[in-house]
Amino acid sequence: MEKKVCAIYPGSFDPPTLGHLDIIGRAAHLFDELIVAIAVNSAKQPLFSVEERLSLLGECCAKLSPTVRVLSFEGTLLVGFAEQVGAQVIVRGLRAMSDFEYEYQMASINRQLNPEIETCILLTSSEFAFLSSSIVKEVARLQGDVSQLVPPNVLSALKEKFAS
Ligand code: ADP
Repeated sequence: MEKKVCAIYPGSFDPPTLGHLDIIGRAAHLFDELIVAIAVNSAKQPLFSVEERLSLLGECCAKLSPTVRVLSFEGTLLVGFAEQVGAQVIVRGLRAMSDFEYEYQMASINRQLNPEIETCILLTSSEFAFLSSSIVKEVARLQGDVSQLVPPNVLSALKEKFAS
């Protein structure tokens, strides 16, 4: 029987951007199943609650592919959560060399923790190389136009958050 490969794409997604959706769309083509996993970090104060992020990402992913699911996890290692959901691959996106060191460190520690789980790094599409959730929040907070950087539902949610 053919072996199905399930991948997990973890991140904060606070909020999801077109850069994230580009990676999700491309990873969905590569793997039989993709789980987008919102990592809840209680030490960080996010702009969007985990429920809001689940709903925003869920709407976007439903349009992208039926093989993508969105979940959240908290208080557990990523490799532990990957094991729980049966994922064999961790997907990450790389924008610039500045991302490399951190991604390399994470991939190395995750391999140490579970050598069965492989990290797969996808290079960003060049139009999204400068794009991050933090830059989106900064521009939106100052009432700048982020309509080319985020999907329509995130744009509305940002407008609501920053309505003065
Ligand atoms: P984290 O806090 O874990 O870095 P993010 O939500 O910022 O979470 O990012 C999740 C993943 O998506 C990371 O691997 C990050 O490098 C990648 N990513 C973020 N923005 C982009 C983008 N514009 N293009 C490609 N990958 C991206």
